[in-house]
Amino acid sequence: MEAAYPGTQHWLTDEGIWLVVESSLLPGLNNPKAIFAVAISLDSAPAVRAWGFWGTAAVGFEWIGPRHTNFPDGSICAYDLTDGTWAMGYSLVKLLDLYTVWAVRHLHYRVLGRWPGYQAVPHVYERILELRPDEFCGCANFQTLYGDCCMEHDRSSNLLQQAVHFMLWSGGGLRRPPLSVVKFIQNRRVAPALKTIFV
Ligand SMILES: [Zn+2]
Repeated sequence: MEAAYPGTQHWLTDEGIWLVVESSLLPGLNNPKAIFAVAISLDSAPAVRAWGFWGTAAVGFEWIGPRHTNFPDGSICAYDLTDGTWAMGYSLVKLLDLYTVWAVRHLHYRVLGRWPGYQAVPHVYERILELRPDEFCGCANFQTLYGDCCMEHDRSSNLLQQAVHFMLWSGGGLRRPPLSVVKFIQNRRVAPALKTIFV
């Protein structure tokens, strides 16, 4: 960890570990870095959850999202669980590398307005809200551009019904990080209780 992500801070708790990791995304002093707050639960059901932030202590921190984060807690969604990309027991450095690629994609999206790379966005209404025609589609035909794949079908579907379906599935359609995590990334003192994170 220290070789790949120098300066990583950690907090041991009764239930697991918190990491705060700084990741240099691109070479060059002026390029933004990403900060990851990583919660690792080591109780009876080991699990990991993480949040990304831009910024520094001097200028403040800004949550990286909402695209490609989970509902409703805004945690990083860097890979699809069903793909077998990473699982508990695999290398933590590899997990942070996946988060780093996720943050580089966010940087691209922030600067150029287009999400680069494949994405899993199975819900029609979420695709309508988020996807550009020149982004890859979120359905199983992930190598096809949205404009050439589901866009026409999505836009001609019953939007009210799709919106209700999506709101029910996502618990209201909003994503944001827990206040305890935002405070933690700012003050780096008291690590949030993991039982409040893995609910
Ligand atoms: Zn599609």
